[in-house]
Amino acid sequence: MTPPPRPPSLRREIVLWYSVVLVVGLAAFAALSYVILARTLARAGTASLRQSALTAEQLIIPAHIPRVTVEERQVAPGKGDVEALLRRSRLPNGDVLDIYVARSGDVEGRALRTFLVISLILIPVTAAGAAWGGRTLADRILRPLDRLVTATREIGIGALSRRVEVPDRPAELQELSLAVNGMLERLERAVDALRRFTADASHELRTPLTAIQGSAQVALARERPPEELRETLEEVLEETRWMLGLVEGLLTLARGEEAQESVGAGRVELLPLLEDVREIGAALAAGKPVEVRLEAAAPVAIRGEERPLRQLFLNLVSNAVKFTDAGSVTLRVGAPVREEGGARVEVSVRDTGAGIPPEDLPRVFDRFYRGDEARARAGGTGLGLAIVRMIAERHGGSVRVESVPGSGSTFIVRLPVATPGEPVAE
Ligand code: ADP
Repeated sequence: MTPPPRPPSLRREIVLWYSVVLVVGLAAFAALSYVILARTLARAGTASLRQSALTAEQLIIPAHIPRVTVEERQVAPGKGDVEALLRRSRLPNGDVLDIYVARSGDVEGRALRTFLVISLILIPVTAAGAAWGGRTLADRILRPLDRLVTATREIGIGALSRRVEVPDRPAELQELSLAVNGMLERLERAVDALRRFTADASHELRTPLTAIQGSAQVALARERPPEELRETLEEVLEETRWMLGLVEGLLTLARGEEAQESVGAGRVELLPLLEDVREIGAALAAGKPVEVRLEAAAPVAIRGEERPLRQLFLNLVSNAVKFTDAGSVTLRVGAPVREEGGARVEVSVRDTGAGIPPEDLPRVFDRFYRGDEARARAGGTGLGLAIVRMIAERHGGSVRVESVPGSGSTFIVRLPVATPGEPVAE
């Protein structure tokens, strides 16, 4: 495929237009000046001719003798650039005095010719000067742009930490450079996140894969009784299940982070959804002295999507049940509160379990963060709370945690309420 022809450069356009506009403008100005000058000179010449005829008449006929009629007319000029005038005065006694005056248009012609010559020299000289000036100006304006183009070309995916130079002037190019740098920064962050994501995921998957490989190698090393082989397969199944959970979690996070816009503005009735979650929580807690409760003052609807919201509360409740050996897990829906940008409601999931040490609190929402060894027994992937935060944020909400080690944790989710007409507490 042949590349499309290069469009005309801005530099050429600036120089061309600058010169064309100047030449046309100057030519129009010169032509107009020429016409006005020619007319003015001709009029002044005629006026001086008339004055000469009058003066001559007054010299011949004294002023006290009245004129019956005075007429003036142009007469056909002689050869060359000559203007001639006849002044005919009739006297009371019937005498007629004809005065002929004439003037040469030479001076006038010479003045006009000089004007023409000067214009014809000055216009191209000025146009050439303008072209040169335009080029210099364009060069000065476009030099930073050239540098920007070169710098942008040099920045590849591996050098996203580089930034283009921000020129002091002109303002437009300064803005463009700042915008390019802003874009580079966002790209750098996105690529970094992607790299970390890939590195973390590979790291997390390596352990179970090594375990599976080890189990298989040991099983194959020599003849084994069927019960032993069965045990090995169960271990493999367990690891595979864990990996599937991890991959599903990663996919959920990746899809959520990829989505550009926030979730759709559907209406999700919160209480039936939480009642479902409570029932699942109670099933998970079966066999433990843990009661799972739901407390809500009034029905409330959330602006968002049902499936992710269900997952959010399921993650919180299953964690609460997982980390609570005895006591209760309480889902509580607060009263909606009016805020700037619409009403919000807080839903808390409180447990009476192990709690989270204060130093871990800032990290619990991080991807792959799992508490200490004692908790790791629970076999989580460390993605549950990262997914909770992602879903809350995609709904325009937030999540936070409060915890007292030994007495329990409370996760508080803030979400936007759906109907603006909803009765809200001030
Ligand atoms: P996991 O799959 O390991 O549960 P999460 O992201 O859901 O991953 O949780 C991250 C860590 O936060 C857990 O490993 C645990 O240490 C801590 N955690 C989460 N919820 C609770 C809770 N209700 N009580 C105590 N610790 C919790």
